[in-house]
Amino acid sequence: MKVLKFGGTSVGNADSIRQVAQIIKNSKEELVVVTSAVGGVTDQLVKVGELASKGDEGYAVLIENIALVHQKLYYDLLGQKPGEELHKIIEQLTEIGHGMWLLKELTPRSNDFILGCGERLSNLILFDYLKHENVKVKLFDSREYIVTDSHFGKANVNFKMTEKKVKEAAKSFDKVNLFPGFISSSELNEPTTLGRGGSDFTAAILAGILNVDNLEIWTDVDGLMTADPRLVKHAHFIEHVSYEEALELSHFGAKVIYPPSIQPALRKGIPITIKNTFNPEHSGTLVTKNWKDNNQLIRGISSIKDIAMVTLSGSGMVGIPRFSFRLFRSLSEAKINVIFITQASSEHSISVGINENDSKMSVAALNKEFALEIESGRINTVEPEQGLSIIALVGNNMKNQVGVSGQMFSVMGKNGISVKAIAQGSSERNISAVIPRLDLKKAVNALHESFFLSDYRRINLFIIGAGNVGKAFMAQLGAQNAYLKEHSHLDLKVIAIANSKKMVFDQQGLPYSKWQDHLQNGEAFSEFRPFSI
Ligand code: ASP
Ligand code: MG
Repeated sequence: MKVLKFGGTSVGNADSIRQVAQIIKNSKEELVVVTSAVGGVTDQLVKVGELASKGDEGYAVLIENIALVHQKLYYDLLGQKPGEELHKIIEQLTEIGHGMWLLKELTPRSNDFILGCGERLSNLILFDYLKHENVKVKLFDSREYIVTDSHFGKANVNFKMTEKKVKEAAKSFDKVNLFPGFISSSELNEPTTLGRGGSDFTAAILAGILNVDNLEIWTDVDGLMTADPRLVKHAHFIEHVSYEEALELSHFGAKVIYPPSIQPALRKGIPITIKNTFNPEHSGTLVTKNWKDNNQLIRGISSIKDIAMVTLSGSGMVGIPRFSFRLFRSLSEAKINVIFITQASSEHSISVGINENDSKMSVAALNKEFALEIESGRINTVEPEQGLSIIALVGNNMKNQVGVSGQMFSVMGKNGISVKAIAQGSSERNISAVIPRLDLKKAVNALHESFFLSDYRRINLFIIGAGNVGKAFMAQLGAQNAYLKEHSHLDLKVIAIANSKKMVFDQQGLPYSKWQDHLQNGEAFSEFRPFSI
């Protein structure tokens, strides 16, 4: 058995839902399928609550919009209007919204009810469509199986009770079993949710309890990348990472998965694959608990773009233990998320990296906390330093390796990038540096070049002529690619294929099988098409 989780873009429109259905149909195994709300709908539902509780009638327009989107989706897929059940959800949503509007009140409990409607709607549509496509499918209302406490907004799962219920449900499983993501109920039967982005968590909980062979997270990218592809053109996709590496990479901005939410599956040792709904041929990124690849020192380069640093400094701090305690307490009381910490051993200053948006609030909090010391001159007034970014090297193999940080900082030095602060976790899985934001792109590219590309010589191929010779050549490349990479350090990528009628380009490389489909769907052949790599 496998668990497949589809995110919001995977069910974003009729075509993508057809694609999802195809992926489900292609599987021979018994499946549990967990699906998010249609992309963007949960955000709109948040807005519904906000507007209604402010007495703004715009909430009703939003609900109407949400209803229309789902009705249209239903019609596009099934060629008919949706039935009673879909209307019932919209009706409930309207009633609760109206109640909020009358009372001008938004309770966490009613908010969870509203937020959960997105998953209920999307799953209903997928369910009806799969039936229409003759798939043997059952829809389970996750609220009857995922049991939580009453911590609305982000409820804590009662794993024992959930396990009992899910195992009971499994007795009546069909070939395909749908469980809406994100929604749950408390032990008192109140509707709860698992927190934003909680569908991954639903999927991982089910995967863990059912002890499935694999958890597949279907999203809209091929997998984790060695760097943010918007910053680094030559960033490549990562085939396999350890759970810890995924954790580090995602902390620094890789939005593909949020590792804490896949924990229940990994705890059971279930491998997780990140797959692309829109490119299902691609093998995706595999995340496993223990994974060691001795060939690669660095797994990826992460970055967070908008950072500010606040520094607490002054001669009055030296040797006095409560300063850092008070610093972190006041930041935590102001609900400020600390991303990065450094303290020089002179104890003369502590710097913390925070989201740039939080800089005003944290400076205010600290200047208040240390008002007395600032007045007496023992501590300097705190001022934010803005316009910064964090860049981090991530990889299990950095552990016990000499010279990684040397290489990192020499590359930055050679490129004229000044480093404001440095931190290395004692796990040695991550070395981070704070740098001026203006230098971020340069820094990520220079480091990527230095740690990834010098190992391989990348050769971009453009194949013109896709007849017998072209076909045989592609097949040969497909068969030889791994060998050439390992033994000759050559990284061959076919970035374009053309015949006399069509041509297709892909900087990441075209697949060696089924490239004909890509070519078929390519653009008309032209001799004068500019293309840069
Ligand atoms: N729909 C919910 C959200 O947007 C849960 C999810 O997509 O995972 O947060
Ligand atoms: Mg989502």
